[in-house]
Amino acid sequence: MLWEPVIGLEIHAQLSTESKIFSGASTAYGAAPNTQACAIDLGLPGVLPVLNENAVRKAVKFGKAIDAEVAKRSIFARKNYFYPDLPKGYQISQYELPIVGPGHVEIVLEDGSVKRVGVTRAHLEEDAGKSLHEDFQGMSGIDLNRTGTPLLEIVSDPDMRSAKEAVAYARKIHQIVVYLGICDGNMQEGSFRMDANVSVRRKGEQRLGTRAELKNLNSFRFLERAINYEIERQIEQIESGGEVVQETRLYDANNDETRSMRSKEEANDYRYFPDPDLLPVEIGDELVAEVLGAMPELPDAKRRRFRKDYGLSELDADLLTTTRVQADYFETVAQACGDPKLAANWVMVELAGALNRQGLDVADSPLGPEALAALLLRIRDQTISGKIAKQVFDAMWRGQGSADSIIESQGLRQITDDSAIEAVVDQVIADNPQQLEQYRAGKEKLLGFFVGQVMKATQGKANPGRVNLLLKAKLSR
Ligand code: ADP
Ligand code: MG
Repeated sequence: MLWEPVIGLEIHAQLSTESKIFSGASTAYGAAPNTQACAIDLGLPGVLPVLNENAVRKAVKFGKAIDAEVAKRSIFARKNYFYPDLPKGYQISQYELPIVGPGHVEIVLEDGSVKRVGVTRAHLEEDAGKSLHEDFQGMSGIDLNRTGTPLLEIVSDPDMRSAKEAVAYARKIHQIVVYLGICDGNMQEGSFRMDANVSVRRKGEQRLGTRAELKNLNSFRFLERAINYEIERQIEQIESGGEVVQETRLYDANNDETRSMRSKEEANDYRYFPDPDLLPVEIGDELVAEVLGAMPELPDAKRRRFRKDYGLSELDADLLTTTRVQADYFETVAQACGDPKLAANWVMVELAGALNRQGLDVADSPLGPEALAALLLRIRDQTISGKIAKQVFDAMWRGQGSADSIIESQGLRQITDDSAIEAVVDQVIADNPQQLEQYRAGKEKLLGFFVGQVMKATQGKANPGRVNLLLKAKLSR
């Protein structure tokens, strides 16, 4: 039996405002527990919430970035439920009229094709506090600092068909909110949190299957693993004659499995009603125009431009536009060295590898884009081979100087002079009569052996193209 997974994500992006969504309390991360929630955040009697304009602007920015309608009028609603980290008994959210309506983003799949994923809506809401279990024996601690922190909840259409697609979509939303500067994207600190809704259905079936909602996915790796586990679990469940129940499940990273947490509430359990303390949010054309005017080039537009201007593949263009810093770095290298493909390879392979090994971000690269471009120029004008360039790159990475000074001081210039190469070629052939005989008897793959010997004798400095030509000519004589 062939099964088709269906996945929709709900993402909570913490908006990077100085103060909370309805109060002046600070949103800074890491303060001592319970020092940053004020009377308004706690919903104490006699206080009123006032909407933070900055949170609204950031939501509008997001709406425009995903090509969505921004509601001229949206309203806040109370979502009522009890939980120890929500002392006021309700969360202020948006329900019937969210600030951002339907929009869409593009994801690049592994085969290089582009898929459009629908965003159903995005709405503003306040965060709740945090329950702490780790440092407490037989009880829980409650830290209310996070209470009232502005969130944008971004809800996707059920458009994803595999865990990989879900990860590509989540990365795309992460990329957009960070490009826009509306969220710091820090997943360890909980600034970007994902819930995955997963169901399966028989291939060809139009109706959606019953879904489970997976919580506690705080990395892209866990998102992928949890979804894959859940797909398998649901298929097994149905194939063994059972059925999937609608519920909330918690992903346990240690055991790489999902476990039932609670049966899923229906919206009407929350008794949503318009918050009587807050006015409707009205957004004028001016604000939208202002936001549009200040919009940076977004990842999808950048990817398309990179394809067109630099002739990159869809996957390479996607990778190189992951962050603004990375895209800028690549563009500087490409323009300074004049060979975009060479620049792309070096940024994606050598530079990315070196950064990875040290756990560094491009922004902290010890090697700037101009320095890298200077090295690539020496490959282009054949001063050094690509292989020697890697050696020079390592020396540059360790701070031993510029490409040119390292090439000179270590005598790495490529030998392009045919007579110099010829002398070495002759010597190598003379030293290996047996291999020569075998080659002439038809064992042509020995060419590689001879090339290797010449490169070894010249410490890799002979121009590989010339070596090949000269060897072929002399060996077959
Ligand atoms: P709720 O109000 O319970 O959170 P929504 O209808 O808002 O439910 O949907 C939440 C998320 O679940 C959305 O991202 C949506 O695309 C996804 N979703 C809804 N139904 C399914 C389904 N049958 N399978 C997979 N995902 C689903
Ligand atoms: Mg939901």
